[in-house]
Parts: sequence; structure tokens; C-alpha cells
Amino acid sequence: MSSKPFNAFEMAQAQFDKVADLLGLDQPTNDLLRQPLREYHFSLPVRMDDGTIKVFRGFRVQHNDARGPGKGGIRFHPQETIDTVRALAMWMTWKCAVVNIPLGGSKGGVICEPHNLSQREQEGLCRAWVRQISRDVGPVVDVPAPDVMTSGQHMLWMLDEYEWIHRGKYPGFITGKPVGMGGSLGRTEATGYGVVFTIREALKEMGIRPQDTVACVQGFGNVAQYAIELYRQIGGTVTCVSCWNQEDQQPYCFRKKDGIDLDELRGVSDRFGGIDKNKAAALGYEVLPGDAWIEQEVDILIPAALENSITGDNAGLISKRVKLIAEGANGPTTPAADHILHERRIVAIPDFLANAGGVTCSYLEQVQSNMNYFWEKDEVLGKLDVMMTSAYIAVSEMARKRKLSMRDAAYVISIARVAQACKDRGWA
Ligand code: NAD
Repeated sequence: MSSKPFNAFEMAQAQFDKVADLLGLDQPTNDLLRQPLREYHFSLPVRMDDGTIKVFRGFRVQHNDARGPGKGGIRFHPQETIDTVRALAMWMTWKCAVVNIPLGGSKGGVICEPHNLSQREQEGLCRAWVRQISRDVGPVVDVPAPDVMTSGQHMLWMLDEYEWIHRGKYPGFITGKPVGMGGSLGRTEATGYGVVFTIREALKEMGIRPQDTVACVQGFGNVAQYAIELYRQIGGTVTCVSCWNQEDQQPYCFRKKDGIDLDELRGVSDRFGGIDKNKAAALGYEVLPGDAWIEQEVDILIPAALENSITGDNAGLISKRVKLIAEGANGPTTPAADHILHERRIVAIPDFLANAGGVTCSYLEQVQSNMNYFWEKDEVLGKLDVMMTSAYIAVSEMARKRKLSMRDAAYVISIARVAQACKDRGWA
């Protein structure tokens, strides 16, 4: 057991190094892709409701934009670190490349606890963030989006600030906007649905019908809820979900052995994806410790909460029945756990493929925003399905052809595409 604190950027670099060796990348390309191209650190003064000014710390990291403008969410999180943002920016580069959309990789963050901020204070934070970075982001430079604890409302405040500064309407500046204000139908569902498009394809390859499978989901936020929604629509049963409990400052699992009722649980959860423990218990759910999700007797695990969830320490607890892990969250599996999964022949659909539905739909939103013409939901979700399915099939074929794990195969495809774009531009 290692006592060293988890560092997402070191993990992202370790994953990169492994594939850089496999691909035999030359030194300049290796040096270029191992680090972000640019990063910005700034202070965000915000006037609080009590009249005082509080200064928050914000970041934007642009990992690589050789294939197109940077793209990536903004997280509001009390434990945000620059290394987490760097890792997530790097993963965005690979994510956009694996689904073959013409965008690069970026990420932003603010160290804050939104649970303790009023709406007005959060608006101030969003506007302050844009004021600090407005010259270095934009529809043809770097396009932000919502992520952990940020929503369409936050994006709209950011867009509004950007448009005041740049004196014009630039709906392509940011994605994840509310529908009717430049947002795309289907964006809310996109990441969770995308996870399930990849699960559906993986089950097809395994010769298993979705209706014969049972899943457990870590998290009950945006990604988790829509993954559960579509998975149930294709016939699957979810028996257990978990979430963070703000009051107790610890996570819990909620289990119903014959299957959870999504609408019922949504009815007792807050906007942060926290389920009310007492109300869930009153509805007949077993309330279990937060780490119980990993040892459930299911066919599919969907980590859809946060990074560093499946580690060398707990991977051994995964039930023998589990055949598939679909990574809804970013970076949920450490390299040590990956090794264990590989030995146990558990197929892991890697995060930057499984959860690429969000960025793919963001790209579709940006296309619609730039042409100021918006498609019906079916059209958006149909395009999303085609793009996600093609990406899954390409990765799966590469994995078979080169006898690689799905993660390494996805990395081979993405890194080769980004390396080629850098070469073609004369950067490496
Ligand atoms: P969210 O804020 O809507 O939900 C997060 C959920 O995780 C909540 O239910 C929360 O209670 C739960 N959680 C937090 N800590 C936990 C813990 N220790 N144990 C169990 N549950 C815990 O966030 P989201 O948008 O659903 O994102 C979830 C993950 O998916 C993140 O890793 C994010 O980076 C990734 N992701 C999100 C999108 C998107 O479009 N929203 C796209 C790609 C990747």
C-alpha cells in the first residue's frame, strides 16, 4: 500500500508514457504531449452576500490544440488542484481525438465549495473567472463547458460576461448552455447515454443481452442518472447506486436487490446528486457504506462519480460476476487496478471513450450555435449514437488487432492522431 497521495496528472502521464513507448514516439512529440501547451492560474475576487470580498483560486489548462480549439469543462470543487486540472485537460485531448472531433483538450477549475455559496455568489465567481481569462478563450480558441458542480446556469453567466467584454453574441464560446439560450437538446443526457451506447456495443461483442445483466453505479449525478435511464431502457437492471452525503461528509450506497426505481430516487435527491438517506430508507432502500458499491454481485460496474475509485487496494473486492466496467467518471481506475482488471479479464471501457458522449454533444452544440440553427433531440442523439458507436468499434478492432486492453487501444488511436496533427503543423 502506497502512502503517497493520489496525483491524477502523474497517472495521466504514466498512461501516456506506456503508449508513447508502444508507438515509438520521437522525443519532441513526446515532450510536447506529456505537458500542457499552456496553463493559466489566477485569483478571483468575489463580493460575498455579507459585503466582504473573498478571493478564490482559478485555473485554465490548455493541453493541446493541434486538432482544433481547446475543449473542456470547468469544475467547482473544494479539493481542486492544478494537477487534477492538468490531467483532465490531457484526457480531453485524447477524448476529442478518440471520437475524431476537430477539437483539442482543455480544462478549468475553481477551488471552492459551491454548497456554501449562494446563487449570487456563484454568479460572481463565474463572471470573475471569465474576466480573468477572456482574452485566452473563445469560440475559435478554447471552449469551456460544465463539469462537476457547474451547470447550464453557470455557463450562461459566463457567456453573458464574455459577450459584454467582446461586445457581440458568441454562442459558440461555451457549451452546456440551457436549451433556448444556445444549448443543444440532448446535451443533458449525452454523457450518460454515451456510456450506455458503449456498454450496448460491448455486450453485443460478448454475446450477452442487456436484459440479462445487472449493474451497480457509483454516483448519482448527471452522468450516473442518464446512464441508468438509458441502461434501463435497453433492458438492464440497476441494483445499487452511491453518492456523497453532504451532511455526514461521507458517501453511502443505496441498494434494492430487485432493481432501483430511478424516478423514485430522483425524487429524494438534491441538485448535486445527493440522495436523502432517511427518505431513501423509508422507500425501502438498504443504506450501505459508501465503498460497498465495488463489491456488489453484478455484471457491470459503472463508476460515475470521481477519480481514483478503483485502486490496487480495492480492485480485489470486485465480484467474480463482473465482466464489464464502463468508466463514466474521469480517471476512476488507477494503473495498479487496471493491471488487476486485465489479469482477471474484466473488460474496462476507458473513461475517455466511455464518457466522450458529453464532449461529442458539446461539439454538436457548438456547430449548432455557430450556424444559429438547432436540431431536434432525435437528430442530436442519433448523431451522437453513430459517433460513439464508430469510436467504440474502432477501439475494439484496434484492441483485437494489436492484442491490447481497450484503454491502451484507445490511447494508441488518440495519441497517434494528435501526434500526427502536431507533426503536420511542424510542432514536433
Ligand atoms: P455531478 O456533480 O452531477 O455528480 C457527481 C456524483 O458523484 C454525485 O451524485 C455525488 O454525490 C457523487 N459523489 C461524490 N463523491 C462521491 C463519493 N466519494 N462516493 C460516491 N459518490 C460520490 O457530476 P457529473 O457531471 O455526473 O460527473 C461525474 C464524473 O463524470 C466526473 O468524474 C466528471 O468529470 C465526469 N464527466 C462528466 C461529464 C458531464 O457531461 N457531466 C462528461 C464527462 C465526464
